[in-house]
Amino acid sequence: MPEARCAKPGPRTLATRITVEKDTMTNLEPTTVPGPHVLPPMPYAQDALAPVISARTIGFHYGKHHQGYVDGLNRLVAGTPFAEMSLEQTLAATAGQTERTAIYNHAAQVWNHTFYWRSLRRMGGGEPPASIKPLIEASFGGVPACRAAIAAAAARRFGSGWVWLVLEKGKLDVVETGNAQRPASPVQRPLLAIDVWEHAYYLDYQNRRADHVTALLDGLIDWGFAADNLG
Ligand code: MN
Repeated sequence: MPEARCAKPGPRTLATRITVEKDTMTNLEPTTVPGPHVLPPMPYAQDALAPVISARTIGFHYGKHHQGYVDGLNRLVAGTPFAEMSLEQTLAATAGQTERTAIYNHAAQVWNHTFYWRSLRRMGGGEPPASIKPLIEASFGGVPACRAAIAAAAARRFGSGWVWLVLEKGKLDVVETGNAQRPASPVQRPLLAIDVWEHAYYLDYQNRRADHVTALLDGLIDWGFAADNLG
């Protein structure tokens, strides 16, 4: 075994790991598993969100993680009645059923990531459109307070998960969910999603999740998408 593999953990170890991941990305052929579910196209170029979310992060996050959830879901449903269901039907049929946790988790992660990509855009951030701003002000007291609630939820989430802006009983709220979990549908309608799994920011921000979320709210969050989801 090469001596470098026995090195104690430290900065060089992280650098080595990233190099290996890059090589892995270059060498692997795209893997897609035949089945009812397909990876939706990205709504923008892979470098559109840089520098807050680099093209390299999106390469892994979309090309490996999101694709991996699609592939895993297709493998899990093959030969089962779930193979005849849409993504939404699969989520409804598996939510809260402990014997279907694997299918639910993969289906939810497919849905969550597709929604997450659409929650961001190049030159986002700024002031929300007039179609949602009054509701933000009525629900939180102002846009800064809404942003603060999102940032606080991102900081509070222990481990992997998601932060959501939701519409509930005519008001907006911010909720956090763990791992693949989604807001309590249909009571809480998702308007925006922020992925706070480490894979969403680690290559660009390492452990600095709060800095990542602040930069995302400053420059990438798509308030127009949130307004569109008010329905
Ligand atoms: Mn993710």
